[in-house]
Amino acid sequence: MSKNPKSGAETAASSSNFIRSHIEADLAAGKYVTRNWSGKPGPASSHAGAAADPAKVRTRFPPEPNGYLHLGHAKSICLNFGLAQHYGGACHLRFDDTNPEKEEQEYVDSIRDAVQWLGFDWGANGYFASDYFGFMYEAAEYLITSGNAYVDEQSAEQMRASRGTLTEPGKPGPWRERPAAESLGRFREMREGKHADGTMVLRAKIDMASPNINLRDPAIYRIRKATHHRTGDAWCIYPMYTFAHPIEDALENITHSLCTLEFADQRPFYDWLLGKLADGGLLARPLPQQIEFARLNLGHVVLSKRKLIQLVDEKHVSGWDDPRLPTLAGARRRGYTAEGFRLFAERIGVSKADSWIDYSVLEDCMREHLNEIAERRIAVLDPLKLIIDNYPEGRQEDCFAPNHPQKPELGKRAVPLTRELWIEREDFTETPQKGYFRLFPGNKVRLRYGYVVECTGCDKDAAGNITAVHCQYLPETRSGTPGAESVKVKGNIHWLSAAQARAAEVRLYDRLFKAAHPGSGGRDFLLDLNPDSARNITAQLEPALATAKAGERFQFERHGYFVADSRDSSPGMPVFNRAVTLRDSWVK
Ligand code: ATP
Ligand code: MG
Repeated sequence: MSKNPKSGAETAASSSNFIRSHIEADLAAGKYVTRNWSGKPGPASSHAGAAADPAKVRTRFPPEPNGYLHLGHAKSICLNFGLAQHYGGACHLRFDDTNPEKEEQEYVDSIRDAVQWLGFDWGANGYFASDYFGFMYEAAEYLITSGNAYVDEQSAEQMRASRGTLTEPGKPGPWRERPAAESLGRFREMREGKHADGTMVLRAKIDMASPNINLRDPAIYRIRKATHHRTGDAWCIYPMYTFAHPIEDALENITHSLCTLEFADQRPFYDWLLGKLADGGLLARPLPQQIEFARLNLGHVVLSKRKLIQLVDEKHVSGWDDPRLPTLAGARRRGYTAEGFRLFAERIGVSKADSWIDYSVLEDCMREHLNEIAERRIAVLDPLKLIIDNYPEGRQEDCFAPNHPQKPELGKRAVPLTRELWIEREDFTETPQKGYFRLFPGNKVRLRYGYVVECTGCDKDAAGNITAVHCQYLPETRSGTPGAESVKVKGNIHWLSAAQARAAEVRLYDRLFKAAHPGSGGRDFLLDLNPDSARNITAQLEPALATAKAGERFQFERHGYFVADSRDSSPGMPVFNRAVTLRDSWVK
């Protein structure tokens, strides 16, 4: 285990990978040194006379503000911002808000918040695709007048039929060869709201027989009489994502446009479009280039937006920040750390081939960082009374527990010891199996940071349930005194003074799905939900935990890492969420 996980922001980009090699080859060739940048996105003309772009590498993270960010986005964020940092460049946060119906300000806010929480800063480079609607419209008109686009008035059904299949070429439709002036007139009518949704679209004119279906005259503008969250009713036509995205990259001087593998088939269109607009003088060369990498697939997790929405809407979870959800809002509330994510992004790297990452890889990264930062505390999760029969009633003494075993500078705190204690129910048995070294009649164990005690027996209720355990303590064995080593024991258990401990709600979270690949083989993914993914218990906590602040993380000794819930904790009354156990309990 590394003692000091380096800032993942640095290292995500520093381990060698194919994207890095690509960027370094471009840098060595001086590919982007001739670009000018006025500090604001815009067409070629707006950078004329501006100085050379000081950022040799510009990347972007382009979320659509139609949902909460998830762990897959975290990979993309760490990659894009990490590379920009590594090469002294810039990474833009750009909201791809070309779809008026589904987008909301709430998502914009939560996305900004999540990116910042991960430790990244886009500085002045925060943009919206909708800022470029004017330019996109001009670009579309240019394509029409230059013979590279036409308005098609076929029905959606007809267009689908004439598009062909993977094995059959498509056929040109009846509007394909109409005069540019006629298309331009129609397009202007579309923009003026003279036509109903779905009656016509603007299509790029490329090649209906192309083996790549994406080049068979893709739609680039459609009519949508909808109010947009930023532009209101200024527009009733909206650019298609595949048309908008390359233009956004170019206007922002992006050098390397990283996206997931499913966009590989779109790259020829990306290059075609930007090439045409550069030929027409609307954009400046060198143009951005698209590079694809494998998306994150994480075992025991669903990352599809549709499925996440279903989990929230059907109340299988408590909301977008349910600590079991793979959203960044949920992970944060769960107690996961930004450093843990950056470490994870570095560890999984980037590749060209799809693969599944075991969830334990993410948990190990969280453990590694939490081990560094979390102070130790004591909690008894399944309390059982232990009575020290030879300890005077009414007496209380302080034992001293280190706040962090590897960081003595963090000091120790007092944990009060009294005659009646709470211990874990599983730390006592009447019938010990071989290798059980904890409490059973006749055996001695150490009360961690306190005394060695010898177990003498237990009390039971009428039903035979154990209600209390009895023991005798050995006064000369107090931890930290010369007598501590005088009696050797194999067991060492944690405990709390029953008089001083505080009862509190603790949520023992586990994986939301019990199957590694939820919903695989066409099965309903909801059938794979883990019925034990949240267990709420009343635990006993050491007094020092009463003042825990919302969001504060601790290691509960022998149990795992816990965080004071940011939503349900109140001053003096924290509620704790388990982030991760100390060890992986999922057997492969
Ligand atoms: P949608 O289906 O709504 O487009 P999306 O998951 O692609 O969903 P976006 O907001 O478009 O959501 O994603 C923003 C960026 O995050 C994109 O560049 C996308 O490639 C990247 N991204 C999304 N999911 C993953 C993933 N699982 N692994 C890596 N990157 C991802
Ligand atoms: Mg997307």
